[in-house]
Amino acid sequence: DAFVVKVAKAKPLNAFLVETPDHALAAARAADAARAAGETLKPLAGVPIGMKDLFCTKGVATTAASHILEGFVPTYESSVSQNLWNAGAGMLGKLNMDQFAMGSSNETSAFGNVVSPWRKPGSDAPLAPGGSSGGSSSAVAAGLCPGATGTDTGGSIRQPAAFTGISGIKPTYGRCSRWGTIAFASSLDQAGPMARDVRDCAIMLEAMAGFDAKDATSLKLDVPRWEHGLSPSLAGKRVGIPREYRVDGMPEEIEALWQAGIDWMKDAGAEIVEVSLPHTRYALPAYYIIAPAEASSNLARYDGVRYGLRDLPAKESGGGAGLQEMYAATRADGFGAEVKRRIMIGTYVLSAGFYDAYYTQAQKVRALIARDFELAFRACDVLLTPTAPSAAFALGSKSADPLAMYLNDVFTVPSSLAGLPAMSVPGGLDKDGLPLGLQIIGKALDEQGVLNAGLAIE
Ligand code: GLN
Repeated sequence: DAFVVKVAKAKPLNAFLVETPDHALAAARAADAARAAGETLKPLAGVPIGMKDLFCTKGVATTAASHILEGFVPTYESSVSQNLWNAGAGMLGKLNMDQFAMGSSNETSAFGNVVSPWRKPGSDAPLAPGGSSGGSSSAVAAGLCPGATGTDTGGSIRQPAAFTGISGIKPTYGRCSRWGTIAFASSLDQAGPMARDVRDCAIMLEAMAGFDAKDATSLKLDVPRWEHGLSPSLAGKRVGIPREYRVDGMPEEIEALWQAGIDWMKDAGAEIVEVSLPHTRYALPAYYIIAPAEASSNLARYDGVRYGLRDLPAKESGGGAGLQEMYAATRADGFGAEVKRRIMIGTYVLSAGFYDAYYTQAQKVRALIARDFELAFRACDVLLTPTAPSAAFALGSKSADPLAMYLNDVFTVPSSLAGLPAMSVPGGLDKDGLPLGLQIIGKALDEQGVLNAGLAIE
């Protein structure tokens, strides 16, 4: 009940698009009843979870924070959310996000941006909660829910976690089913938990992950007992420091944070090794070709016929109201500016004349980046890097400059392109007292190694 009241009082954060107190209370009551009956409790019995609005939830409006899905009420439940309910959790509500998960600040939401609960001392200027899972980061950081789901295509779990001082893990591609999760870039999209600490992330991820025949890229593997396997000792482990992540102009405090992380790893018994990921600087451009290309294909389904919004051209525009006009009016009104930008970039890089020069080339780069990681992991068990090149920036400070915004993803996209598990853990505060995150990247399927290295930091 306390969480339901908290959410109701937290309107200024704009983290929740829909509140579903009955869902959360039903789970809490089921947990109470099980406890009273002396039954063994489910792993998440009664825990109220916030769901990013990218997950379809049966009977509960789901919009991906876009006008184009206004009025869409799924008739089915996403596999990840169903897994959480099967583990005893309940849903407090649907969380705000960047529209279709495209963004790093939450400012592309059609329903107003989420505000971080953090402030610089002596300042009221609202800060970005990160994105795209900014409703999730903000809600967990403000204590509105103990855990939330996020999705990560190029950093959308890790960067918002870093900006708000919480933990979040993107598992290996294929660990969490994508079925019923609204698609952005299907070869990159992965769901994962965002929570207050590493242990909570392990518990939630165990519930969320698992093979699902309804997702053709789902991994046919048992879910490891990650929580059980948690160990703070890194004795015998080698932690790799990728040289190429020391980008020019990196703020001193990010350098200092990274050094502190290295020291914590040593204290936990790890050996530190320098490694090279030579194609790192091509990751961001490759990502911003591949992700929009897949998005332009995935978003073709929003045509005013199948889901959500349908608009007709204004009478005074003189246009007829044929099928083409209906498509055009619906998309013009329904998609936000960033989504339109991605669709246009994606359509361009996939077009007959440019496909080889952009899309094929980006796929080749992607293969080289994956190979960089494979080679680096011969010399180490996990990699340690900063999560983002800065602490949370002020809302509005980058929204007019897409390139500045995209640069925020510089440390998170390479592991996404390679499909590897990666986590952000709070590492400390900057000179203004704002949280900074450290990122741990692991070998494919080694979420355990990532979580354990995370424990050494927190
Ligand atoms: N910020 C990145 C983008 O805008 C990543 C988003 C994500 O991971 N969903 O594409």
